[in-house]
Amino acid sequence: MVLQRASTSKIKRMSSSTPSKPKPGHPANAIAPANKPSNFLRQIIEHDLAAGSYAQRKWGGSPGDAAHHAQGAPDPAKIRTRFPPEPNGYLHIGHAKSICINFGLARDYGGVCHLRFDDTNPEKEEQEYVNSIIDAVKWLGFDWNGSPTAAPYQASDYFDFMYRAAEALIEAGHAYVDEQTVEQIRINRGDFGKPGVDSPFRSRTPAENLARFREMRDGKHEDGAMVLRAKIDMASPNINLRDPAIYRIRRATHHNTGDKWCIYPMYTFAHPIEDALENITHSICTLEFEDQRPFYDWLLQRLIEAGLLSAPPPHQYEFARLNLSYVITSKRKLAQLVYDHKVKGWDDPRLPTLVGLRRRGYTPEAIQLFAERIGVTKSDSWIDYSTLEGCLRETLDGSAARAMAVLDPIKLVLSNWDAVMGKPEDSSQAAVGKLDDCSAPLHPHHPELGKRSFKIGKEVWIDRSDFEETPHKGFFRLFPGNKVRLKYGHVIECTGCTKDASGKILEVLATLIPDTKSGTPGSDAVKVKGVITWVGVSDGLPVEVRLYDRLFLDAQPDAGGKDFIESLNPNSLKVVTAFVEPSLASAKADQKFQFERHGYFVADRVDHAAGKPVFNLAVGLKDSWGK
Ligand code: ATP
Ligand code: MG
Repeated sequence: MVLQRASTSKIKRMSSSTPSKPKPGHPANAIAPANKPSNFLRQIIEHDLAAGSYAQRKWGGSPGDAAHHAQGAPDPAKIRTRFPPEPNGYLHIGHAKSICINFGLARDYGGVCHLRFDDTNPEKEEQEYVNSIIDAVKWLGFDWNGSPTAAPYQASDYFDFMYRAAEALIEAGHAYVDEQTVEQIRINRGDFGKPGVDSPFRSRTPAENLARFREMRDGKHEDGAMVLRAKIDMASPNINLRDPAIYRIRRATHHNTGDKWCIYPMYTFAHPIEDALENITHSICTLEFEDQRPFYDWLLQRLIEAGLLSAPPPHQYEFARLNLSYVITSKRKLAQLVYDHKVKGWDDPRLPTLVGLRRRGYTPEAIQLFAERIGVTKSDSWIDYSTLEGCLRETLDGSAARAMAVLDPIKLVLSNWDAVMGKPEDSSQAAVGKLDDCSAPLHPHHPELGKRSFKIGKEVWIDRSDFEETPHKGFFRLFPGNKVRLKYGHVIECTGCTKDASGKILEVLATLIPDTKSGTPGSDAVKVKGVITWVGVSDGLPVEVRLYDRLFLDAQPDAGGKDFIESLNPNSLKVVTAFVEPSLASAKADQKFQFERHGYFVADRVDHAAGKPVFNLAVGLKDSWGK
């Protein structure tokens, strides 16, 4: 299948200084996978493969330092990418983009993608999140089984090496212990218009620094009393190079290393080292890390010079993070919604978490299609939520079984039913009347999937909105004097309705037009403009349907520091009792259906049970938001 790109009006195209596309005949052309829209990352990788940039690397069988990899065999992975989540929450649709990019590139170019838990921050991480991340990556369709690398990895396994790297920097005069207060460090860093001021501790000797750093490690100093800083350039125009902190004192129990350490590496120090130990070739991250790249390169060069890491080092590339309208993609903010009970847990179908989307009815195929369609660019933009919904519709359309459902039921009574159809053979059924068998294909384009059966009788459920006593212009469904077809059934003519004392409509009345049943000879002799869906009163199944809508009313709920709680949509969930066809009695949790004329629904994976069916609205049939 050739994938269509999303419309350019919704997605700003990239503008970036990336390598130009290889010319015809260029060896990289032989490397490009067929049928994949190119992007700047693919071009970079194809260029690196053609140039053999990483062909000399060796792989020691597991992550490790230069000596470890040097005794290994040539790396069987042509490229190595990684997906490095911090296990401090559940993954969301933004992470899915990153997963699809990193695992997808590795798959397409004979490489390996490492799932790595970036767990260098001891306070926020939990095993529950680790497990949920593994589940999410596998559910999306990616795995590490059979790869030459056993994964997942955890950054905290590299703490010993990181400590060694820090000592090596100190010994080479590239790092020092700074005892200024946090405030002094901040002020002396300067700003965009003002160079920084050297710390009075900057000129200490390596021996003094080493002794101090070991005291930090040995718990001789209070949290925050001092930090280890890289010694680079306090006048650099890039503030990230003005002697960034690389180790801090923090007495906290780590979920992996327990109380072994009271000093922890800073993210900017840890991350490049994690990449290098794992032989990563292309370290792909979001744009906000662009300014960190010079430090990434500086650090790895110093550690290669020190003989600790093997060359060539990994290289960092940045892409635009996913911003999706009406959606929040920040684990921290999603956690706030969960813990403040604004939603019913991490897997609430209104959340953009992968567990939430899954429960909503999203499939891995839909999310992969979405990732492919939005592409990879280097300029920030907002993707319209309807792009994601469109991908779900497209992937469910070919597979979801069809069924009729009435979401807002009102009874339709066919007053001449007995006269036309005759009395039931079994006199005990007189009140119900005679029932007539109807059938429909499970899927209109897949007759091989078979048929579904249901019965029509003198009473059927129809949707309240399919009747208008005084029709508005262009309304072709039920109103007194108008004929419509009951889908897969007969043509009927509306005769009116009954009301209670307050004027509320109780029942809609109609007469059956004989000899018009779908599929029988001459059934289309009576022409109608409207066809309505319905469910028999005799065999309709009452079910709970959860109608979900956008969680926020504001398209950019947290942009510019806005309080996203204020734009929560009070009507994001409406629960109704609906009637559905009897074929749905055997629906299994997680099974998806198209309720004809309504949309795609999924049997709720948590609450749906044989005697207590629950369906979630996954997505409507048409993009009707805001219309
Ligand atoms: P959050 O704010 O949700 O915690 P994060 O970037 O801090 O996001 P990490 O767990 O550190 O979350 O992210 C793991 C990977 O997923 C990173 O490589 C990050 O760049 C990527 N990622 C996170 N959010 C998005 C997004 N919205 N679009 C694309 N990639 C993302
Ligand atoms: Mg993070």
